Amino acid sequence: MPRIEKFKALVVDRDAAKHQFVEVRELNLADLMEGDVVVRVSHSTVNYKDGLAITGKLPVVRRFPMIPGIDFVGEVVTSDNPDFRPGDEVILNGWGVGEGHYGAYARYARVKGDWLIKKPGEIPTADTMAIGTAGYTAMLSIITLERFGVSPKSGPVVVTGATGGVGSVAVALLKKLGHHVVAVTGRVSEEEYLRGLGAAEIVDREELLDPAKLLDKERWAAGIDTVGANVLANVIAMTKPGGAIAACGNAGGMGLSTSVAPFILRGVSLLGINSVTQPRPAREEAWGRLVRDLDQKKLEAMTTTIGFDQIRETAERIVEGKVRGRVVVELG
Ligand code: NDP
Repeated sequence: MPRIEKFKALVVDRDAAKHQFVEVRELNLADLMEGDVVVRVSHSTVNYKDGLAITGKLPVVRRFPMIPGIDFVGEVVTSDNPDFRPGDEVILNGWGVGEGHYGAYARYARVKGDWLIKKPGEIPTADTMAIGTAGYTAMLSIITLERFGVSPKSGPVVVTGATGGVGSVAVALLKKLGHHVVAVTGRVSEEEYLRGLGAAEIVDREELLDPAKLLDKERWAAGIDTVGANVLANVIAMTKPGGAIAACGNAGGMGLSTSVAPFILRGVSLLGINSVTQPRPAREEAWGRLVRDLDQKKLEAMTTTIGFDQIRETAERIVEGKVRGRVVVELG
């Protein structure tokens, strides 16, 4: 066991009056929670859920104190798990890490080996977190639509929250796979960015904010929705007969007020995406597809890199819808 000095961790805690606060603490390995693999974390990211955890905007954190950070890449330091050895590069997405189990915003993490996958060799370490849970979720959404039968021949595919993390990766992937991509955004000023990623059409989010009609003009054959609420309801009402929407996000709210009309009159399907507890084979499939189908130049174009000290400020900006694309956190 190598000697490990104290290390910095970002901690979310509550005071006696149950008010949430965030501070940097010095921890030892002994302070970390149970697990059979210790990882030296090199990079993490700031996802929307991390923003919710740090700001307390929604009750994402289920245990206090908590180290937030739902995803990381790093090197195994010690392992009692037969699948991993010291020196292995591993990726973690989800499994309640950063919510109920100490997460990524520290130099070290101790987790269950069953939650980890080995980093695909072909992809640079930092790029795995440029993709992060957002990109992995975009890929899971695409795989789900493909299993449903959606192909480039089906018709246009809509992506909501298009300038966000899931949205940006989804636009780039769909374009590479040959789809006609319709990007819905609240930031039409980012048209050039979205067209650069591969969007063929830009739709102002304003058009989808009112309560949805029972059925609306048919505009797309499939979609990936990261927003929820009225935007998702309108997306469903505007889907062509036999189409499908993968619902993966709630950046616009948790609610969904729709009618059965699109489902029973147009045979539209709503497909749920949960990235958090996917079994390892599904994770490995998604990461394998990301290696193959995501254009490295586009990944670069959507990625900003920050240090540990900028996590908090970035978390605040992401819940305000002010972060574009993906943010990598360098912890090494
Ligand atoms: P981002 O903040 O990067 O992207 C969300 C985007 O949604 C924003 O960029 C913005 O895009 C749009 N948006 C933001 N606020 C609002 C609002 N109030 N109303 C309507 N649109 C809004 O977040 P991520 O990409 O990290 O995550 C996107 C969503 O997916 C989140 O809800 C997240 O929790 C969810 N998610 C779910 C997972 C799962 O397992 N199901 C896994 C990963 C993420 P624009 O300005 O272009 O409109």
